[in-house]
Amino acid sequence: MTLDGAQGAAGRAGGGRPRVLATWDLPAAVERLRPRCDVDVWGERRALPPEALAARVADAEGLLCLLTDRVDAALLARAPRLRAISTVSVGVDHVDLAAATARAIPVGHTPGVLTETTADLTFTLLLAAARRVVEADGLVRSGGWRRWEPDLLLGRDVHGATLGILGLGAIGRAVARRAARGFGMRVLAWSRARGPLGDLDGAVAWAELPELLAASDFVSVHVPLTAATRGLLDAPALARMKAGAILVNTARGGIVDETALAAALREGRLAAAGLDVFEREPVDPASPLLRLPNVVLAPHIGSASVGTRERMARMAADNLLAALAGGRMPACANPEVYR
Ligand code: NAP
Repeated sequence: MTLDGAQGAAGRAGGGRPRVLATWDLPAAVERLRPRCDVDVWGERRALPPEALAARVADAEGLLCLLTDRVDAALLARAPRLRAISTVSVGVDHVDLAAATARAIPVGHTPGVLTETTADLTFTLLLAAARRVVEADGLVRSGGWRRWEPDLLLGRDVHGATLGILGLGAIGRAVARRAARGFGMRVLAWSRARGPLGDLDGAVAWAELPELLAASDFVSVHVPLTAATRGLLDAPALARMKAGAILVNTARGGIVDETALAAALREGRLAAAGLDVFEREPVDPASPLLRLPNVVLAPHIGSASVGTRERMARMAADNLLAALAGGRMPACANPEVYR
């Protein structure tokens, strides 16, 4: 069934204001929805528990959700009136896209508006890991800084080094620009589709994955988490990385085997890592990564700037409004729903 089919028409024919469930009180989104929808806002500062989510989405026509909400086939089965889902994220690995498509429900997301902000954080982690900024901060704060020493906290040069990018999409390209133009890095890229490089022509070279891993001083992950990319950087892949290389992951935790990564960092095969995302979030307090000094950690804040979070909220609301009015979502993660 498509949106032009029975479900979309029935929803619109129902008349009145569509009922929307918002799983977080995001003023920039909720204020945009309220003039045209009845919005049920989960106002607590914790994720809506799964059972409460299922109960509250049961009579909703629209769902405004976050990457912390699991929207799977079982949930959709309990939401017979649902005709639009909109997540305040570009990643949609928390939504069962196939199940939504099977129910003719478009899934909106927020590509583009967070690209540069996430690329900024990627570079923050890359630089901090290379130059041991967190260790340095700790040394100064703890009073452990006794004197200038010629071998104190020696790191790795970023300028002139080789950066390997996994996934040359929007964020991968924005990171490549910073690397090539700002830091004079040689940039290798591995991606699914190898289209024209456009403005990166001459600045980026395509490579096969093993070649990229072996040649890169830094590897930065920018593929989405899908069945094809889960565990992409497993123990054998990490073992292929250049000795002393640095891994940065601002994509999704499930793409990297954290146990294998911790072993490689502990044994010094990799020099350092910068991580914004984890297999489990919040990260397991028992994770060995938390005990390694050569890991720079961030709590999934890639897109967390004031302006970008506001743009994401507005975009997510606009996706929902368009679909609830019977139109096409401006940014839809399962466009096949319109076929
Ligand atoms: P994007 O523009 O869709 O780029 C993703 C790239 O990965 C595309 O070039 C895509 O190739 C490639 N790719 C997809 N599947 C692949 C596969 N199986 N093998 C190789 N390459 C593959 O997305 P984006 O906006 O750059 O975002 C990338 C990811 O970053 C998101 O999915 C999200 O998980 C993560 N993210 C994290 C944060 C954060 O807060 N840390 C913020 C924003 C985004 P095609 O062109 O062939 O599809």
